[in-house]
Formats: sequence, C-alpha cells, structure tokens
Amino acid sequence: MAVLVTGGLGYIGSHTCVELMNTGTEIVVVDNLYNCKKSSYDRIKALTGKDFKFYECDIRDAEGLSKIFENENIGSVIHFAGLKAVGESVQKPLEYFDNNVNGTLVLLDVMRKHGCKKIVFSSSATVYGMNNVSPLTENMEVGGVTNPYGRTKYMIECILKDLYVSDNEWSICLLRYFNPIGAHKSGTMGEDPNGIPNNLMPYITQVAIGKRECLTVHGNDYDTPDGTGVRDYIHVVDLALGHLKAVGKVEGENGLFIYNLGTGIGYSVLDVVKAFEKASGKEIPYVIGPRRSGDLATCYSNAEKALNELGWKAERGIDEMCEDSWRWQSQNPDGYPD
Ligand code: NAD
Ligand code: UDP
Repeated sequence: MAVLVTGGLGYIGSHTCVELMNTGTEIVVVDNLYNCKKSSYDRIKALTGKDFKFYECDIRDAEGLSKIFENENIGSVIHFAGLKAVGESVQKPLEYFDNNVNGTLVLLDVMRKHGCKKIVFSSSATVYGMNNVSPLTENMEVGGVTNPYGRTKYMIECILKDLYVSDNEWSICLLRYFNPIGAHKSGTMGEDPNGIPNNLMPYITQVAIGKRECLTVHGNDYDTPDGTGVRDYIHVVDLALGHLKAVGKVEGENGLFIYNLGTGIGYSVLDVVKAFEKASGKEIPYVIGPRRSGDLATCYSNAEKALNELGWKAERGIDEMCEDSWRWQSQNPDGYPD
C-alpha cells in the first residue's frame, strides 16, 4: 500500500517524501505545481536514489483524484496541499477558502468513495488563536483566529472532527506545526518562496546571500526577554519524521488524534539572527520596524503529547537549523531551477 502525499513537492512535503522513501515506504505524489518547481521531484529522486509516481493534478479536481485512487493502491494520505501566505489570504479570501477548504472536501469525498479513511493533516499552531498562553497544549480551546489562512486550518480541523464523529472507521491525525525552518543536510532541498519572503528565516537567508539589504524586525516592544517576538522553530527534517510517526498511528488504529509538532523551546527574532550569524559567518544587518498586525508576542508548544503517544521528539537544535538553511540558500541562490 502506498501513502498519497498531496502537496508533496512543496517545502515540507518534499522533505517528508524523502524520509518516507528512506524507510522503504511507497509514495504517490499529487501537486498542481502552484507553489513549487518540478525540479523538486528530481531532487527527491536524486537524494533517495528511488523513483516514485507523480501526478500533476489539483486536489479540487475530483475526476483527476479518482483516477489516481483507481490506478494506485493508496492506503493512507498525508495532506499538505494548500495555500499558506497569511497576508495574501487577507487579499484573496475566496481563493484561500476554495483551495484549502473546498480542496480538502473534494479530497475527503474521493477518499471515502474509494474506501480510504486514513489521513494526516497539516494544521498549524495558528489555530490556537490570540487567547491561549504558551506553552500551548492540544486540549486548549482553538479558534479566535485572525486571518483567512488561519481560519481555513481551523475550519478543516472542524470538518475532520465532524467526519470522525459521523463515521468512526476514519483515522485522522491533525498535526499542528509550529515554525518550520532548516533544510535537507545535502543542501539540495529547502524552502523556495516566491517574491519577497514573509517568514523570518527565508528573509534572513536572502539578506545573507545579498538579495535583500536588511531585515526589518517587526517590533521590539513585546513583553518578551528582548522585546522581539518569540517562536518555536522546528527543523523541517524533524517535522518530516513526525509525519512518519503520524502515518504509523493512523495506519495502526482508528481515532481522531491531535499533536503539536514543535520543540517546546521559544527563540526571539534576535536569538535567531544571532544563531544564523554564527552558523553562516555573515552579518545580518537589521532595523527595528513597527509591530506586524496580527502577530503574537510569544508562541511555543508543549511537545510532550507527541513524545508520549508517538515516541517523537525534535532532535535538531537552532544552530543546526541555521546551518542547514544557509547551506541550502548558499548552494541555491535562486532556489530550485525552472
Ligand atoms: P508549500 O507551498 O511549499 O507546499 C504546498 C504544496 O501544495 C505546493 O507544492 C503547492 O504547489 C501544492 N498545492 C497547493 N494547492 C494545491 C492544490 N489545490 N492542488 C494540488 N497541489 C496544491 O508549503 P509548505 O510550507 O510545505 O506547507 C505544507 C502545508 O503545511 C500547508 O498546508 C501549510 O499550510 C502547512 N503549514 C505550513 C507551515 C509553514 O510555516 N511552512 C506552518 C504550519 C502549517
Ligand atoms: N519577523 C520579523 N521580520 C520578518 C519576518 C518575521 O521580525 O521579516 C518576526 C515575526 O514578527 C515573528 C517571527 O519573526 O515574531 C516569526 O515570523 P514568521 O512570519 O516567520 O512566522 P509566524 O510565527 O508569524 O507564522
């Protein structure tokens, strides 16, 4: 039986595909190439020395997805496919709800029709909203999300919970990611954002490579040790390995499972700048700007549930995250080739 990986050529998906194949798991990938390059497929094959089936298909295309389920022996699904830019989601809410929520509904309906009821879903720490205090635990109330992107994640979590209530033959795992950074050790796979990066690490690496002049720190008047925002950064390979455990969980038993994937440690923006400077030997000039609207002062996980129930724990620290991000950026200044 194969694992179907939606969005499998993207940043987190590609790293997860490599780790799945490294353990001998058969995979089938579906991606519409909206936010990735086809060369990501070649890099995954080169790294693993193995071939796999790739379908260029949109998850909203029920007919296309059905054909994949007819042609392949799919046992479970890891569902990464989605749009993820918070700012863009404010400008294009309909596109975000259509792609993320409607796309998931189409996928779930096709899965049900083909008797495949095991899914691992890419959720986000954003579902904890503005009202919970870190460290965040899975039993805290979710909602209170401030942007359309976050609302798509919250809505999909609700849909998946309702689906499980309606039919407990489903096995569903919601993974709430904290802040994935880093890249594959080889330097051949990493994050390749379009245009000006919104996220901290790709912005820093582009300053280091000379593509941007200087980092703007979004506020230094938060109630944190140095006044800048604190987040739980997690190495993308640790995150990928968390998915292998989650697939094992949904393949082993029915149920609705929810796990934070984070390290449990918070670093400030300036901590990350310092760690990156040490790892790369490059100075990162920065200026302090105003707060970014919708940002929290502090957001980090309690990571114990995943350890206790999945036997998973993030192993890679902030220095390694920065070294690997820099290796990827310096070896691929323009990201993946066209
Ligand atoms: P990404 O954009 O690199 O990967 C997503 C992939 O999905 C892309 O390759 C894109 O082409 C594909 N895709 C998008 N819409 C599709 C559709 N309708 N049909 C088929 N393919 C489609 O993003 P990522 O960082 O790898 O994130 C993966 C998932 O994890 C997303 O659902 C994202 O919301 C979630 N997530 C990411 C972060 C983060 O910081 N990167 C944090 C929390 C949650
Ligand atoms: N940040 C920043 N400058 C940037 C991008 C991000 O100061 O150019 C800060 C942001 O305010 C937050 C942290 O870095 O405190 C992480 O932001 P990111 O967008 O990477 O992730 P988020 O936690 O917001 O999803």
